[in-house]
Amino acid sequence: MVKQTIQIFARIKPTKKNTAVYSVNSEEQASTFLEFVVPKDTADGFVNNKRECFKFRFQKVFDQATKQENIFEDIAKPVADSVLAGYNGTIFAYGQTGSGKTFTITGGAERFSDRGIIPRTLSYLYERFSLDSSNVYTTHISYLEIYNEIGYDLLDSRQEASRLEDLPKVIIMEDPDQNIHLRNLSLQQSANEEEALNLLFLGDTNRMIAETPMNQASTRSHCIFTVHLCRREPGSDTLRRSKLHLVDLAGSDRVSKTGLNGQLLTEAKYINLSLHYLEQVIIALSERNRFHIPYRNSMLTSVLRDSLGGNCMTTMIATMAVDKTNLDESISTCRFAQRVAIIKNEAVLNEELDPALLIARLKQEVQSLKEELSMLTGEERDGQLAVEEIQKLEELVKAFLDDPGPDVTLSLGPDMRKIQYCFSLLKTMILASRVESSSSCDMQTSPGVRPEEKDCEHRSEEEVAKLKELLMQRNNEISILVRLLKKEKKRAKDAITQLDSISDREKDGTTSDSSSSALPPLKDGTNEPTTNGPAGRAVVYMKRGPQLSMGKQEAFETFITDHEEHLIIEDNRSLLKQRSAEARKLGEQLNDAKQKINDFKKQIEIRRRQRAVHGVTGNHQNVVEDLDLVEENLRKNIEQEKKNYKSTVAHLKALKTEIEHLQLLLERAKVKLQKDFQKWWNEEASKVQETEARSQTRSPCGTLQPSSPCSPGFE
Ligand code: ADP
Ligand code: MG
Repeated sequence: MVKQTIQIFARIKPTKKNTAVYSVNSEEQASTFLEFVVPKDTADGFVNNKRECFKFRFQKVFDQATKQENIFEDIAKPVADSVLAGYNGTIFAYGQTGSGKTFTITGGAERFSDRGIIPRTLSYLYERFSLDSSNVYTTHISYLEIYNEIGYDLLDSRQEASRLEDLPKVIIMEDPDQNIHLRNLSLQQSANEEEALNLLFLGDTNRMIAETPMNQASTRSHCIFTVHLCRREPGSDTLRRSKLHLVDLAGSDRVSKTGLNGQLLTEAKYINLSLHYLEQVIIALSERNRFHIPYRNSMLTSVLRDSLGGNCMTTMIATMAVDKTNLDESISTCRFAQRVAIIKNEAVLNEELDPALLIARLKQEVQSLKEELSMLTGEERDGQLAVEEIQKLEELVKAFLDDPGPDVTLSLGPDMRKIQYCFSLLKTMILASRVESSSSCDMQTSPGVRPEEKDCEHRSEEEVAKLKELLMQRNNEISILVRLLKKEKKRAKDAITQLDSISDREKDGTTSDSSSSALPPLKDGTNEPTTNGPAGRAVVYMKRGPQLSMGKQEAFETFITDHEEHLIIEDNRSLLKQRSAEARKLGEQLNDAKQKINDFKKQIEIRRRQRAVHGVTGNHQNVVEDLDLVEENLRKNIEQEKKNYKSTVAHLKALKTEIEHLQLLLERAKVKLQKDFQKWWNEEASKVQETEARSQTRSPCGTLQPSSPCSPGFE
């Protein structure tokens, strides 16, 4: 068990103007202080307006210039490592709207380098899986959005959702042991990074599509992206299951500042209520002697129950903006973090017996016990009799027949196969003796001797043929079984050698196939990804809504060029083209390197042959030495080329990830464009309707009716 308080980190969003209201100081090794100095006059409005200096301790404070990469390395990687080891982990971002929660957790929507904790963690996890050949990992992903106390499944792949309400509603259930179950929340298996990333983008697209100006879901809802990990060691009964929650909380903005009205105020209150309950749970947990923790008050706290004061290693990232207008919010974010830092969690290794593995092992055990028992008791078994068993039965029958005593028995145990075999043996013998007696054959042998072994000229030919056939059948059966067994053995052996050769090749840095087969084929980034396979899946999901009519299409073309995302799309498109070209070039380089390696190998081969010839013809020693030197150089060249090959492969892998990410970014931008277009189109349509309605109120002669004021625009 690992006892640990919730780790708290602060991240400060870049501001345009340099603000001197805060400072970051590392006084101790394991912590950093974030200090706000607020001039007295501007301190008005704070809870305690006499204070000028607010100082908060964090594990670490990430100042404005911090890159996404550093956030991943310092915050997410240690959590991912413990999840890999079998502990539960949670990272949640808390802060006011616009302070960078989504940017930190998911990432920016424009650049590859802006990708956040989720895609980087996924990449890291799959890399680690590939490096650990002694365990088998399986991952499932779920993505939950909680809005107004209702959960929605963001991984809904039907393409109909245009409102949050269209997504499947997730229902929270509690079993008698008070474990939480989320009904309707889909768990989707992801076999590799690409599939996992597609799921993330599917969820984010659903999140974006479902968001309307009236329900700014992204700022008022909580999103929980969960990686469910299962690790098992082949041959072991136990497995480790762990969960990693990556949580993007709703904006922590306070109601008083939002100044909302009517319907929106209700929503704002809800969000605050949800965070208010989170805060209540945190306060309860941070106080000693509190036995009741009000987890059940809200869906968020129910879902995150383990992450807060339970079996989990939890980390909080407090995001904040430090311009003057946001100072009060930033200070309250820090205060919240200080309370969170008191909470102690107790993470345990989630090791459990795998029922399937256990059953398989027990079955095997039962089988071997049965065999043992049948050996001892001669109990009935399934399957054919073994050769030794047949031999033994024949001996028993012989002894039975040889014994003249009337009380002699043939003891075979309750095994029908043995009984039947002995009966058929006896029948064969009786038939054979009948034939013999009818032909007055002088029987030299005693009953019980195998008929086919008899050396009798008068034996029925038919009987011999029958017995021979029986024997052949038995032999065939045996050899088929043996062949089957060999095949199985070979298959297992082949699988092992194949695995070995793959790992050898990876060590060597070369593959026997062409370079492109070392990696999945790269799509040309400029083309639409294919709809087959996981790569195209997200893209298909994103192509929503009905086909546009001709007129709408034209309008769309114009709309695109004016849209703010247009430039981003174009930039990303050209970047994608560039990266695809780079990837192709790298592919060629790989082929070149492979070709060179092969050439060098051939040259070495030639040199060796030459040396052998020199050896035979007894040429001078220095010729041989020369050849050795040349061979050594060739070997060095091969090593160098292998190094090049390896680094090119690594480069290509990284490029592939970037290309896939860019493709998804592009698709998402396109979906946003479509959505904005639809909104614009609807607005235009209602404007047209309005105009028509107004024109109808005009008199037929074209004069305005006195009761219908008309805007100047229609004059
Ligand atoms: P939140 O989710 O907290 O409401 P966002 O993550 O959406 O805030 O951030 C608001 C805006 O600020 C976005 O346009 C985002 O790209 C940008 N942003 C946030 N943090 C950073 C950062 N560290 N570096 C650059 N841009 C950032
Ligand atoms: Mg956000």
